Amino acid sequence: MTVRSGAARESWTRVADVENASNSQQPHSPTSDAVEHPVAGHHPHTYVVSAGRGGPEGDPHAPGASGVPVNAPVDFSSTYSYRPDDDGGRLYAREGMPTWEPLEELLAHLEGGTRSTWSGEGFVATEQQAALQVPPALLFGSGMAAIAAVVHLLPIGGHIILPRHSYNGTSALVDELAAEGRLTAHRVDIADTEAVQTTLADVATLAQAQEAPVMLWAESPTNPMLEVADLPALLAEARRRGVLTAVDNTFATPLRQRPLQHGADIVVHSVTKFLAGHSDLVMGAAVAADPQLRERLRRHRSLHGAVPGPMEVFLALRGVRTLAVRLDAAEANAAELAVRLEQLAASGETPLQTVSYPGLASHPQHERAGEQLAGCGAIIALHLPDVASADAVLSALRVWTPATSLGGVESLAERRRRHGGEPDTVPEGLIRLSVGIEHVDDLHADLVQALRLAGGVRPDNPAETR
Ligand SMILES: *Cc1c(COP(=O)(O)O)cnc(C)c1O
Repeated sequence: MTVRSGAARESWTRVADVENASNSQQPHSPTSDAVEHPVAGHHPHTYVVSAGRGGPEGDPHAPGASGVPVNAPVDFSSTYSYRPDDDGGRLYAREGMPTWEPLEELLAHLEGGTRSTWSGEGFVATEQQAALQVPPALLFGSGMAAIAAVVHLLPIGGHIILPRHSYNGTSALVDELAAEGRLTAHRVDIADTEAVQTTLADVATLAQAQEAPVMLWAESPTNPMLEVADLPALLAEARRRGVLTAVDNTFATPLRQRPLQHGADIVVHSVTKFLAGHSDLVMGAAVAADPQLRERLRRHRSLHGAVPGPMEVFLALRGVRTLAVRLDAAEANAAELAVRLEQLAASGETPLQTVSYPGLASHPQHERAGEQLAGCGAIIALHLPDVASADAVLSALRVWTPATSLGGVESLAERRRRHGGEPDTVPEGLIRLSVGIEHVDDLHADLVQALRLAGGVRPDNPAETR
């Protein structure tokens, strides 16, 4: 194994290659097998399978281990017995339960593991890194619970800078807190680095005069516009100005982007999406490098009761075991679909106007995505001219399910503006696709027939089929 400092670029080349390739590409060939994100000395494909196998019952990997369950045990208990002289470190399930630990450890390593160095032979922690240790993750009852805990780190009177296209729950929460006079929100085009830096400078100056703290909230790629931020530049500038930074890494997942590596203070996730991966639970997580921040988040979680139950944690841990292969498959499908659909858009045969996907050369931040992301993910935006044509496409889909949410094994499609909370800079006819792991030809054929139907083309006319 050789050192691959340019791993992101290398895998990028593979995604970009799809654009030039004919349809000869194997639909499910992984796009990211060249990605070297070592986690605890292993490739992520290995790490997500092996992590957190230990636990209260022992370590099945320990030499000579026998009779140890291969899976971490799940406790269905709200409380724990104690001896008056020793409570065993456990108290009550809202404060913490052993069932959370394997998943928290796994997510912490996934997001923070790159603080260690891949030597080519194995994991090497520098002295400084060893002192930092791996930043632990905290599970929350939902992605929004994690986001709310992070936003509430800002004291009353604080300022938050956030993308104009943020997750709509984050956006609504910030608006509500702003309406209550608790904070001031500054919205930016997160892909416009210069504009964000100007806002950072202006807000930092203003806040300094008020002795108020500032938080930069970043999402990249953004939902649903797929804008890609220059995270290293923005996070460095924020740090220089003493601005606290948080990144919602739900779309990219830690297998494609690790914001802590670029200096982010906090990373949040909707575990509901790619991490759990089966659209069968709601959960969130926050990872913070700084122990004090972490403690404040943990306290918020306890006092607000924003905790996940053991069954959800069991399911999420089971789901994350297949994260690497699911993401490879979904991303390969997305890369292929993006190319095919862009060709269809160019043909003018259907109402499809344009396709947004960071892996397409036509994407405004295509180059940046190549430098920063170890793969372009599985979300695509389709641009239809209006509500009627977008809804006609959704009504005609048979393989894709019209539904909100994303990151599951099944492919979902949604006209995003159906949510009142979406800003009007998101076009009315935009359909967000969450590409799943079905066969790419079935996904493609279904979209083509739906787009043709929406365009008024009879699907049974042989002259009209491809
Ligand atoms: C879904 C989502 C959230 C919210 O997570 P929940 O688990 O639904 O509370 C936050 N950010 C992004 C980017 C999301 O897609």
